[in-house]
Amino acid sequence: MNHFIYRDKELYCEKVPIRKIAQKVGTPMYIYSYATLKRHFMAFNDAFKGVNRLVCFSAKANTSLAIMKLFSNLGGGLDIVSGGELYRGLKAGFSPNKIVYSGVGKRIDEIDYALKMGILMFNVESLEELETIDRRAGLLKKKAPLAIRVNPDVDPKTHPYISTGMKKNKFGINIETAMAAYKVAAKLKNIKVIGLDCHIGSQITQTGPFKDALYSLKAIIKELTDCGINIRHLDLGGGLGITYNEEEPPHPVEYAEAIKEVIGDTRLKLIFEPGRVIVGNAGIIVTKVLYRKSTTAKEFIIVDAGMNDLIRPTLYEAFHAIKPVVDSGGEEIKADIVGPICESGDFLALGRKIKKVKQGDLLAVMSSGAYGFVMSSNYCSRLKIPEVMVNGDNFQVIRKRQKYEDLTRGEIIPSFL
Ligand SMILES: *Cc1c(COP(=O)(O)O)cnc(C)c1O
Repeated sequence: MNHFIYRDKELYCEKVPIRKIAQKVGTPMYIYSYATLKRHFMAFNDAFKGVNRLVCFSAKANTSLAIMKLFSNLGGGLDIVSGGELYRGLKAGFSPNKIVYSGVGKRIDEIDYALKMGILMFNVESLEELETIDRRAGLLKKKAPLAIRVNPDVDPKTHPYISTGMKKNKFGINIETAMAAYKVAAKLKNIKVIGLDCHIGSQITQTGPFKDALYSLKAIIKELTDCGINIRHLDLGGGLGITYNEEEPPHPVEYAEAIKEVIGDTRLKLIFEPGRVIVGNAGIIVTKVLYRKSTTAKEFIIVDAGMNDLIRPTLYEAFHAIKPVVDSGGEEIKADIVGPICESGDFLALGRKIKKVKQGDLLAVMSSGAYGFVMSSNYCSRLKIPEVMVNGDNFQVIRKRQKYEDLTRGEIIPSFL
């Protein structure tokens, strides 16, 4: 069931009219549906019922404390890519032994922090990183639990910026050299080899690439067993896509069937790192029309949300549906929907068909829950916008709108000025 729906031509989130939230909180803002977040997490988790698994929400898709708290309450784990995400994850109540740590550039202070907290597993992406983790663990008198992130060289058939499992990508260790890396790892004193990991990309809308990757991993698991390296965890990463426009990605159940079909019976514990599929369609941005103008070439709708609030359209050429918060049923026009920032790349949609709007009208930018707020910035000294969570007929601000004082916090004018 969709929790962003029209009732009497007015867009609601669950049981609250979005217009009402905008009156109280102002625009622009992010709004998330609690029921949707919960349903998406449970749907993914339940798809693997009967399988020994841990669903580690990928923090980088949305690190808001309230959202992560919801997933930790539901028994989820967390996939992190930085010390900052570890800090947030612990604040949100995740137990360290449900946290997995990926990323090609883990710093020493971040490795130490994760070792001290006792995370479930490091997903290691290079030989130098492997040796560094061993050295740091030795100094801290710990044994570092670790998986090797393998790059299986499969084409996930997604936007090139979000493909991660091809030879040309910076991620993971080449499948050809993975066994050599395992043999090195197995000899290191302060390392406990416990898993195998891969993550091939994001917004993947077919099961094929996942299956291809898993066939490659199965071959490695067999080789590992043959060499007496016994792993217990198989981390299959994230990457399942969602519908932004007309994509028809597999349902989590279909995805789970594909995985189960390839993996067969296994004593390994499966780890998943879904991000977008859980939060993407659980959040929207609400923005207000500031001005309209037409040139001889085009119509422009200038709104109060910009690329600093949602960078996906310009960064990934991403499509986000844009809907009127109150549907006045007017005629359709074709317009560029642009923000206030002094960059031609500052747009939410180009050449979009949309019902005629007027100054002050509210628009909802759909499917903004993943890689939305987390990628926002203060560019042009614009204040970061608030986030709201709706639950039934209740809603709460889960992050306040920044104030001008927040902009200069931490800045120092040197004494010689
Ligand atoms: C980004 C990322 C994910 C989540 O990807 P989604 O496409 O949002 O599911 C999972 N694992 C790793 C290692 C990532 O970098």
